[in-house]
Amino acid sequence: MELQFLGTGAGMPSKQRNTSALVVKLMQERGTFWLFDCGEATQHQMLHTSLKPRKLEKIFITHMHGDHIYGLPGLLGSRSFLDGKEPLTIYGPTGIQEWILTTLRLSKTYLQYKVNFVEITEGIIFEDEQFTVEAKLLHHVIPCFGFRVSQKPLPPQLLIEKALQSGVPKGPLLAQLKNGQDVILENGQTVFSHDVTAKAEDGFSLAILGDTRFCQASIDLSQNVDIVIHEATFDAGTEELAKPYGHSTITQAAQVAKESGAKHLIVQHISARFLPSHAEELRKQGLSVFPSITVAEDFAEFELKHNELNRINS
Ligand SMILES: [Zn+2]
Ligand SMILES: [Zn+2]
Repeated sequence: MELQFLGTGAGMPSKQRNTSALVVKLMQERGTFWLFDCGEATQHQMLHTSLKPRKLEKIFITHMHGDHIYGLPGLLGSRSFLDGKEPLTIYGPTGIQEWILTTLRLSKTYLQYKVNFVEITEGIIFEDEQFTVEAKLLHHVIPCFGFRVSQKPLPPQLLIEKALQSGVPKGPLLAQLKNGQDVILENGQTVFSHDVTAKAEDGFSLAILGDTRFCQASIDLSQNVDIVIHEATFDAGTEELAKPYGHSTITQAAQVAKESGAKHLIVQHISARFLPSHAEELRKQGLSVFPSITVAEDFAEFELKHNELNRINS
């Protein structure tokens, strides 16, 4: 799994930061990517990456503020022009369907693929054999959700050389061993599945939180995740200022990561008041609370592999 931030700014775009959009790349897991929020010009940002809109499978919208949704109609239209034919599912708060369908209708935009809408409430909003996605209401000035993406444990790996050496012939017995069943060979010898498989790896988990004040819901949703992605619209010491706007400071974001037992914190939704040169200062403010903090910038790309978070571009 890889993460790429397409927009890390708060409220409106600046030269340094576009408005919110975060890509969760699942190319290895399912050959697609998912998008979390879609601020204005998200499709322009995508042009600077290797992302192909037709590989976009799901869009999750945290809330209906413009800096999180104004990029949707354009992206949906371009996906159609660029030969996107696979259905796309959009998960978001009440109103997302009406807003998109009205815009598409009045602009006479016809998509050559099907869009499924899921207007969400709290709880599990998506589940298949690989993933679950859970939504929880946070504390912003309008209804705003956080999402927890959990990958299910990966199947055990068959150690094929070892199995063949144990005398297992190529064919269906190998599949049985991989599925955890012991097998008896023609010569009467038993081969145990646990001897020829490597243990299933834990799946990864992410909490991607929308705009919010510091709140218990963020902590509950982020319990023990590998990465919590939290807004940090304000800097340390301005908690009283942040609260009426429904936003958090960097220290509060760090507090959520700490109290939830998360391994890493990446902050985004950074105010244009903070220039790139301030990012390190912001990070240091949070470090007093939580040890693993990254202040994301547009196009920053990360990889999570075997529980380790690494930056993969600069
Ligand atoms: Zn916002
Ligand atoms: Zn907002």
